[in-house]
Amino acid sequence: MNIILLGPPGAGKGTQSSLLVEQRGMRQLSTGDMLRAAVKAETPVGLEAKAVMERGELVSDAIVSALIDDELAAMSAETGAIFDGYPRTAAQAVSLDELLAKHGRKLDHVIELDVDEEALVDRVTGRFTCANCGEGYHDRHKQPEVAGACDKCGSTEFKRRKDDNEETVRTRMAEYRAKTAPILPHYEKSGIVRRVDGMAAIDDVTRAIAKVLDS
Ligand code: AMP
Repeated sequence: MNIILLGPPGAGKGTQSSLLVEQRGMRQLSTGDMLRAAVKAETPVGLEAKAVMERGELVSDAIVSALIDDELAAMSAETGAIFDGYPRTAAQAVSLDELLAKHGRKLDHVIELDVDEEALVDRVTGRFTCANCGEGYHDRHKQPEVAGACDKCGSTEFKRRKDDNEETVRTRMAEYRAKTAPILPHYEKSGIVRRVDGMAAIDDVTRAIAKVLDS
């Protein structure tokens, strides 16, 4: 199964993707994670993408589509793919169609996480993760049970994304509205778009997604 999770920053794409990976053995293809890894490793792609990402703007279509191509080439065709944060523009949607055909895959569902933008600013600006295991936390909504130590692995190192500040979040949302939301009609034609309430509790969102995937 191949699915796209679509929604503005903080909608829960990453959280729901991780759960699908755990529960269904699918593979999460997050261009944001790939780009952050490239920035950290200071690869040529990372060096080109760093400043663009810090401003909350979009990295070039050619770069992200090449990253997805490489990942699909390295995967077994039987492993399901969750596209998280890709495609984000009309050109990327066209590239994804081509890449899916090239790698013998077909898109099953496009799930749009429907969210309230103001609530997202609050979500995104307070979030941080365990630097060791990736468990997610929030300044106002989910502090570790023992202050300063990860509930899951006990690590005392935490990290925050550089682009999770209010100004950048607003740019990222504007990018979503202007360039990503308009790709929905591309998929609506094939009748594969489903909307899920992304403001519901995490478990409820997971259940709603499961309902779509099992339909
Ligand atoms: P994300 O982790 O999905 O929020 O992505 C973080 C940042 O990486 C975005 O604000 C963009 O700068 C860049 N990025 C991630 N995915 C894409 C994409 N598909 N197209 C262009 N830029 C992207």
